Amino acid sequence: MRVDGLKAYYQTRWFGITREVRAVDDITLRIEHDEIYGIAGESSSGKSSLIKTIAGAIRPPLNVVGGTVNFDFGTRKVDLYTLKPEERTAIRWKHLAYIMQGSMSVLNPLRRVRQSFIDFAFRHMGMPMPAFLKAVEDHLLRLHLQPGVLDSYPHELSGGMRQRVVIALATVCRPGFIIADEPTTALDVVVQKSVLTMIREVQREMRASILFVTHDMAVHANLTDRLGIMYAGRLVEEGRTRDLFRNPRHPYTLHLIRSLPRIGDAEPRQGLEGTPPNLADPPPGCRFHPRCPIAMDVCRVMVPPMQALGGGHRVACHAVTEGTVQ
Ligand code: SF4
Ligand code: MG
Repeated sequence: MRVDGLKAYYQTRWFGITREVRAVDDITLRIEHDEIYGIAGESSSGKSSLIKTIAGAIRPPLNVVGGTVNFDFGTRKVDLYTLKPEERTAIRWKHLAYIMQGSMSVLNPLRRVRQSFIDFAFRHMGMPMPAFLKAVEDHLLRLHLQPGVLDSYPHELSGGMRQRVVIALATVCRPGFIIADEPTTALDVVVQKSVLTMIREVQREMRASILFVTHDMAVHANLTDRLGIMYAGRLVEEGRTRDLFRNPRHPYTLHLIRSLPRIGDAEPRQGLEGTPPNLADPPPGCRFHPRCPIAMDVCRVMVPPMQALGGGHRVACHAVTEGTVQ
């Protein structure tokens, strides 16, 4: 998947005044076949807006105002925003699975789980009902779920089991690209682990690419191959996950890693001063400058360009470019 110069803004008019919230502001990234790419950042950094845009699941007031999203599914190449909305919806399910934040609610509470599979996936599979139900059971078994869950009502399943069923549902058509937004956030740590194990299994079994979004750096450390750090609608650093954890270069990445709790901590770790900026009126220059402990004059006026550091590590920070920090 290739995203180039992508911009998606929430645009509202109120008493004749247009207000723009630049949730996704000039993002360029590549996701390779067969890799798990993570996106990290605080809440309201634009993570969910970015992946909604990549999934082609946006509706007004969120609009794409620039840039492109291209997929190569092997059998089919797609320039997402030149497609008609109904073609975009057809691409979802078949080639692209989007597990939305809070997606456990897609299971119809009044019907058995089997019915949700039929409602969402049957028409995309192009096979008669008995063959479809057999394919669903085989898919569940491959993901170590008992086909018996199909007879359950959602409320009979634990939160972790419901999330695993939703992931099975999203991937039953064997899409090549899977997008998941905070799928483990509502779950406790032990249950999180079973969901992460399942995502890894899905990826291995289907050789799919996965775009995985969470604010939880510990989850990224355990799951993702590469990681992009978002701050205030922009990508500020990107690289192999282990390189970013070993050698974070952007002050914001450093903060995210340092704020991870460690065994032996007596008290919660110190957060960063200040809050993420209001994206309707972001600060000029580097958007992180009001909170950055090493901000310089140039940071207040010039947007730092993305610089390649080698080995696929990229960072947008004047201090790194000027060699002020190592
Ligand atoms: Fe801090 Fe300047 Fe780097 Fe932004 S560009 S992170 S303000 S040093
Ligand atoms: Mg979100």
